[in-house]
Amino acid sequence: MGFIEKQTDPTTPMHWRGNMQADYFYPSGAAGDKFFKHLKQMDTFLATKCSKCNKVLFPPRLYCEDCYQEITDDDWAEVPAAGTVRLFTVVMLDAHGEKLANPEVIALIDIDKTDGAMLGVVKTADINKDLSGIKVKAILKPQETREGTIKDILYWEEI
Ligand SMILES: [Zn+2]
Repeated sequence: MGFIEKQTDPTTPMHWRGNMQADYFYPSGAAGDKFFKHLKQMDTFLATKCSKCNKVLFPPRLYCEDCYQEITDDDWAEVPAAGTVRLFTVVMLDAHGEKLANPEVIALIDIDKTDGAMLGVVKTADINKDLSGIKVKAILKPQETREGTIKDILYWEEI
């Protein structure tokens, strides 16, 4: 199968030999850029507050996702890098279906003082513990090694 031929049978495996150029660039956008520059320097997060409906958007946005109000420079606020576990799951297998030596807890965390949430790895000594509703804080890389990316958050741990 050539590169420009269209695959019509999803059960038929396809492959090609050689190199395929795959240059991707995913910008985080103006709001994401400001969020990560802040995270690189500080131990807190940034959020945006809608001046019309008062929803505190996290991750921060340039427009309110509910009422479409534009967010101005005055609508940015620092919030703690902490939150509450809304829900979680224990991951036992890796992406290839192989059993993990150390299962991981992936949680949806409601960020304090915001109406938003984010996913994170929660480190816990007891993998069987019900983590619903527990308070957690983000453990960040040492400030001098931060790169201004999501990887600056190493993991979350119970407060
Ligand atoms: Zn709004």
